[in-house]
Amino acid sequence: MTGKNRKLGIMGGTFDPVHYGHLVTAEAARLEFDLDQVLFLPSGVPPHKTDKQVTSAEHRYMMTLLATLSNPHFEVSRLEIDREGVSYTIDSLQILREQCGPDCELFFITGADAMFEIIEWRGSDRLLRIAHFIAASRPGFSLSELPPDTRRWVDEHRNRFHLLNVPAMAISSTDIRNRVRMGRSIRYLVPEQVEHYIRRHRLYQ
Ligand code: NAP
Repeated sequence: MTGKNRKLGIMGGTFDPVHYGHLVTAEAARLEFDLDQVLFLPSGVPPHKTDKQVTSAEHRYMMTLLATLSNPHFEVSRLEIDREGVSYTIDSLQILREQCGPDCELFFITGADAMFEIIEWRGSDRLLRIAHFIAASRPGFSLSELPPDTRRWVDEHRNRFHLLNVPAMAISSTDIRNRVRMGRSIRYLVPEQVEHYIRRHRLYQ
């Protein structure tokens, strides 16, 4: 993963399950920010979901792997899956920073909703020194939706924050889980291999 002047995208998410919205976002970020590679980083234990039921990390990892296999610019990391305890983003970015080397630029990509809470993330200031932050938003999302103190903080770090409009962000993992539970189709919302995996392992029943 090392290299001079490399740009590495890191796609952080629970991916329960991964869907076309995530894939379109990763590809859009790759093209918009001229990234050499996008590393999908499924959370092991998502910090803000410790009290919620989340599908096993291995299932989420396998679905992410299946979904990304056909894109030579995409890879999936087991970093957070294999690490014990809560998956704080700052811990992962520090490790990836070391692996990638000093000439490598990191871009952490996730949903814009994360911006509402990012101030409270562990080591949030440090996080922005290590990586750029790309917030994937539905069209129409504006920073003015953020509470004033968050907006001020984002403003102070404006050169490290980037908004990326992605129409496919209308697809959501929650909706997909509900559809499966109700016996409705998820065709064209997730890659076929993911759809088969969900069916074979009876996930989200
Ligand atoms: P979430 O709260 O489930 O998702 C918030 C919104 O963002 C949802 O609409 C979600 O859609 C979307 N989203 C999530 N990941 C995305 C991605 N990579 N690209 C585009 N949209 C995305 O968020 P999460 O997935 O659990 O967490 C996002 C990332 O933030 C993870 O890497 C997590 O570890 C990190 N995080 C870190 C801390 C911390 O370090 N303290 C705290 C919170 C989150 P879907 O539901 O359809 O995915």
